[in-house]
Amino acid sequence: QKPILEVKGLTKYFKVKGGILGRQTGAVKAVDDVSFTVNKGEILGIVGESGCGKSTTGKSILRLIEPTGGEVKFEDKDITNISSEEMRKLRRNMQIIFQDPYASLNPRHTVEKIISEPLLVHGINSSKERKERVKELLGIVGLSAYHASRYPHQFSGGQRQRIGIARALANNPKLIICDEPVSALDVSVQSQILNLMEDLRNEFSLTYVFIAHDLSVVKHICDRIGVMYLGRMVELTEKDKLYDKPKHPYTQALLSAVPLPDPDIVKERVILQGDVPSPSNPPSGCAFHTRCPQAMDICKETRPHFEEIEDNHYVACHLYGNRLSSN
Ligand code: SF4
Ligand code: MG
Repeated sequence: QKPILEVKGLTKYFKVKGGILGRQTGAVKAVDDVSFTVNKGEILGIVGESGCGKSTTGKSILRLIEPTGGEVKFEDKDITNISSEEMRKLRRNMQIIFQDPYASLNPRHTVEKIISEPLLVHGINSSKERKERVKELLGIVGLSAYHASRYPHQFSGGQRQRIGIARALANNPKLIICDEPVSALDVSVQSQILNLMEDLRNEFSLTYVFIAHDLSVVKHICDRIGVMYLGRMVELTEKDKLYDKPKHPYTQALLSAVPLPDPDIVKERVILQGDVPSPSNPPSGCAFHTRCPQAMDICKETRPHFEEIEDNHYVACHLYGNRLSSN
């Protein structure tokens, strides 16, 4: 199967000022050499604690922020260096849904105007046609035509996210980056939105990159899941493999924190020591070594490669692969 999206060595550094007078400059490696592919029709989860670079990865793919390095291919086309005009045209195929729909919906615009905007941008000039499409989109996301004349504040959080989804779907995109779309919602509403998104994926053959900060949200919706830590991808595999046989000690720790449906199955809990180190000064070698219960000497010095240790199972950890002997 051909991937719709290929990300190779994606890197994003942010310049930061430091020192007493803010005169020293350094770089935060928000995304540090991240590679993965997404197949057409697939839902790829990207999970990690806040500040691990998952949102920056999503936004860099769409070039909403410019990556520092690496390559992004969409449908076999390298989009890393295309002009912003060309990118603007391509964006109709690549949309994003944000965590906080309220912040991303203009409070002074009616729902009609909010959903019409991308239609207008991509050349649907007839207002009648736009109105019809808005009505259709509202139906698709489980709202009604009469909602079109209302304003964002008149809706609940879940309804607002439906509006955000309708806007993202307006021009029939192929790929949607979902940046924690349910994190701000109540648990009961979360599952409604997740079900809606899954239905939409099936109905419109969409592909999602689904960003979340914990593994419980993505459990049902994703086909494969990638785990990020301090700007790096540390594990990536099929969902069942990740939940049943996590390889990376960080993934094992994240899974320990997920509440178990059956309390009789007591898994060995891995409790992480310490806080996430600052991304402006990440630890040497394996960035996880300061918190890893299995850290070895090599982990402090040598950065583990992200490699396929089993069929379709990628891990960056010295416990696996043959790097130990070659180093
Ligand atoms: Fe732990 Fe070492 Fe593996 Fe990093 S490389 S996760 S420190 S065992
Ligand atoms: Mg984020």
